[in-house]
Amino acid sequence: MSVEELKAKVEQRLDEIMPELVELSDDIFAHPELRFEEHHAKKVITELLEKHGMDVDHDVANLPTAFAAQVPGHTSKPRVGILSEYDALPEIGHACGHNLIGTSGVGTFLVLASIADELNGSVALYGTPGEEGGGGKITMLEADTFDTLDTVIMTHPIHTESMVDTPFLASTGLTLKFHGKPSHAAAAPEHGINAVDALVNTYVAVNGMRQRMPSDVNICGIIRSGGSAANVIPDYAELFYIVRADNWHKAKDAVDTVIQIAEGSAAAIGASVESEMMKNQHAEFQFYTETKHNPVLEDIFEENLKSIGVNVVPWTKEMGVGSTDFANVSYELPGMHLMLKLDGTDSPPHTREFAEAAGSENGRKWLREAILAMAFSAIDILQEKDRLDQVKQEFAAAD
Ligand SMILES: [Zn+2]
Ligand SMILES: [Zn+2]
Repeated sequence: MSVEELKAKVEQRLDEIMPELVELSDDIFAHPELRFEEHHAKKVITELLEKHGMDVDHDVANLPTAFAAQVPGHTSKPRVGILSEYDALPEIGHACGHNLIGTSGVGTFLVLASIADELNGSVALYGTPGEEGGGGKITMLEADTFDTLDTVIMTHPIHTESMVDTPFLASTGLTLKFHGKPSHAAAAPEHGINAVDALVNTYVAVNGMRQRMPSDVNICGIIRSGGSAANVIPDYAELFYIVRADNWHKAKDAVDTVIQIAEGSAAAIGASVESEMMKNQHAEFQFYTETKHNPVLEDIFEENLKSIGVNVVPWTKEMGVGSTDFANVSYELPGMHLMLKLDGTDSPPHTREFAEAAGSENGRKWLREAILAMAFSAIDILQEKDRLDQVKQEFAAAD
């Protein structure tokens, strides 16, 4: 079957299963769950996959709310992985639209399953929990979950315009715990070592360091603990920084400099400091890298988006920038994180207005576009061998 015929077939299949996909998206939207607690979402997604006869692995990377699915008997290479996210945010629910992301992955996988016998390779779907500050995909990478894949794709909603080249920043968190010595603040201040002084000296010195940092390094900190009584010299103080940069080497250098400053500031007054990199309940080390772009994949997606009438614009600084654990995946294998415009909101993700749009009729239009863009692109990647070769060459050439 030609590429055109395959694309026509998946579009027809999408029309057939769209009511089930809308129901799935609405169900996940109505039951927002926080990172690593997405039990309802995993249940309704995997039930739908099993209903359609797919093989589902419920035990992935030791993450209770992750899963993997494949079309029975179809595991040949090359292999395209499709990622679903389905976690929500505290209080504002699906304000990042992960009900749509989760459902678009399921829909893409199911429409491609309908042509599995015709594909020169195979597709797999992964449920990747805990994107919102959890780094679930990093845990999955550490467990070699994506090792059988040649390329990996997903789609995220955005309020601005559709873009194939959105950069994501490297990002990590650093906790600094300062230890001093308590003493009566008036009767015996000379016997105390003030942990808050060490913290304040660090905070001021880090502000001073900004002028010698590359302009794209962003450091923002909060004071988590700063003593409890003003008549006691505080023996403990805690500072938490988020450090971002357009490349993880720069972010790591900045983190190392902040740690040196903290150690120097503490030592100067006889205090001590412990530094801890950000962790979560499933990963010892949490460091989001920047995205590794793959212009060949970006071109494939752009062509397919245009073919279904979606306008694509180049990313500009005004569009904003964030971080995602998908970026770490894009470092391990060629990846595409499409940002697809969600109509009906001028507000960015993580706002109530964005959540409203993600649960509305506009979300349904978005789902259809996301699924067609991903399914058509997967067909191009699998059926046109030179394009996959180019994708791989591009990946190997980029640092
Ligand atoms: Zn988000
Ligand atoms: Zn998101």
